[in-house]
Amino acid sequence: MSLNLDKFKSVISHAKEYGFIFQSSEIYDGLSAVYDYAQNGVELKNNIRQYWWKSMVQMHDNIVGIDSAVLMHPTVWKASGHVDAFNDPLIDNKDSKKRYRADVLVEDYCAKIEGKIEKEIKKAIKRFGDSFDKEQFINTNSRIIGYNKKISDILSRLAKSLENEDLEDVRNLIIELEIVCPISGSKNWTDVKQFNLMFGTKLGASADTATDLFLRPETAQGIFVNFLNVQKTGRMKIPFGIAQTGKAFRNEIVARQFIFRMREFEQMEMQFFVKPVTQADWYEKWKESRMKWHVSLGMGEDNYRFHDHEKLAHYADAASDIEFKFPFGFKELEGIHSRTDFDLKQHQEFSGKKLQYYDNELKESYIPCVVETSIGLDRMFLAILSNSLKEEVLENNTTRTVLKIPPFLSPYKVALLPLVKKDGLPQIAKDIYNTLKLEFNVTYDEKDAVGRRYRRQDAIGTPYCITVDHQTKDDNTITIRERDSMQQDRIPLTEIEKYIKDKISFNPTLLTI
Ligand code: ATP
Repeated sequence: MSLNLDKFKSVISHAKEYGFIFQSSEIYDGLSAVYDYAQNGVELKNNIRQYWWKSMVQMHDNIVGIDSAVLMHPTVWKASGHVDAFNDPLIDNKDSKKRYRADVLVEDYCAKIEGKIEKEIKKAIKRFGDSFDKEQFINTNSRIIGYNKKISDILSRLAKSLENEDLEDVRNLIIELEIVCPISGSKNWTDVKQFNLMFGTKLGASADTATDLFLRPETAQGIFVNFLNVQKTGRMKIPFGIAQTGKAFRNEIVARQFIFRMREFEQMEMQFFVKPVTQADWYEKWKESRMKWHVSLGMGEDNYRFHDHEKLAHYADAASDIEFKFPFGFKELEGIHSRTDFDLKQHQEFSGKKLQYYDNELKESYIPCVVETSIGLDRMFLAILSNSLKEEVLENNTTRTVLKIPPFLSPYKVALLPLVKKDGLPQIAKDIYNTLKLEFNVTYDEKDAVGRRYRRQDAIGTPYCITVDHQTKDDNTITIRERDSMQQDRIPLTEIEKYIKDKISFNPTLLTI
């Protein structure tokens, strides 16, 4: 794992300086692990959500979307297992008084060993040059074999202890590995305890009659409880999917790493209902399909990997994460889970309502199994922001900061820049702006020299800048500058829309997945 913490710091400060993300309630010193999306951030976030919705819902004949409420009947969370089992194991360091997730401490320890493996590989690449065979090296180098065995032994022991609720052994593992608190540097640890992550709230006006509710910790349950409503009213035939995007809330123990782990965040989930015993095939299909979706965004195939779970959640018979190489290493971006028939079965039992599908061909009813794809919108946002932010040295030895986001995700598609603030140029630029804004999200800027305005647009990822100059008045042409190549074309006013439309459409990308 190559850590790039300087890069991460620059992503965080860029997000604030250029109006992508602000700390929530900043004037009151902020609220820990809660963030607000600013004027450019909200556009990027909306575009990511829209792209996901288009590809997952509208491009699939057999997937429909819903938008269920954040507040749900409290029994939902008993049935789903969240009241009893939505826990994280926490541990405190007695010297720093800092609280950690015990499993994350162990995983971070393993990530450090992974870092050593990467170092060995880099050294070997230097040594062997073109003849280097990475696969062979990993499988034969004794040091790497040792490291990998160590990681695998540690993670299987952790998985087993968590599975068996053996929290004492989780603590022993931390002690045996001599893991120290990153703040105090000491090994003075408390016992490991379970901590429920759901936020409670109350429904009703008076204290005596109020009902205890939870803010939903995942959007999935809103889909399960509506399964039959959607299936019947939409006349859906298995296999079919129900998708939704929306807020979820988790009282995370350790909420660091900016918008990677927040207490209020947004999920984009799809639950795919299939005939029992076919779930393993669908699980593989969705794993492959979701990986393709990510890779199609052009952020580099090597930046993704699967991490199959050893410890399965109480509802799953298989689970895998798609991990992305964030500046702080490979971490979960999306989960693909084969949830069996657990959720529908539980809701059927707790509600007393039949939640079954009548299969016309088999002439029988059954509770379908579910394969879920669940991606965090905020993590996707962070992946895009951190991967796209580049510092480039230009030919004249100056540098520029540029956000190389896929154009269809950019907050603004076009910026209108009159070369000077006089001679009627602003009016022409505003006329173009008013025409284009019907079709695309456009912005207008007339302040400062045009070079500085280009830099401002580069920094927020605007793919095209249109400059209106004196020649425009003579021959109705403008210059259009492309963000990544900085190439400028001179084209007639009448061709602007067509010129841009093809280049900022997500259709070509959609067709590859
Ligand atoms: P982690 O192991 O990182 O806590 P998880 O396995 O609990 O994540 P899931 O319950 O599978 O996560 O949720 C699905 C997706 O929701 C995750 O892949 C992630 O992208 C997103 N997500 C989960 N928790 C958070 C959070 N606290 N902040 C932002 N996104 C989150």
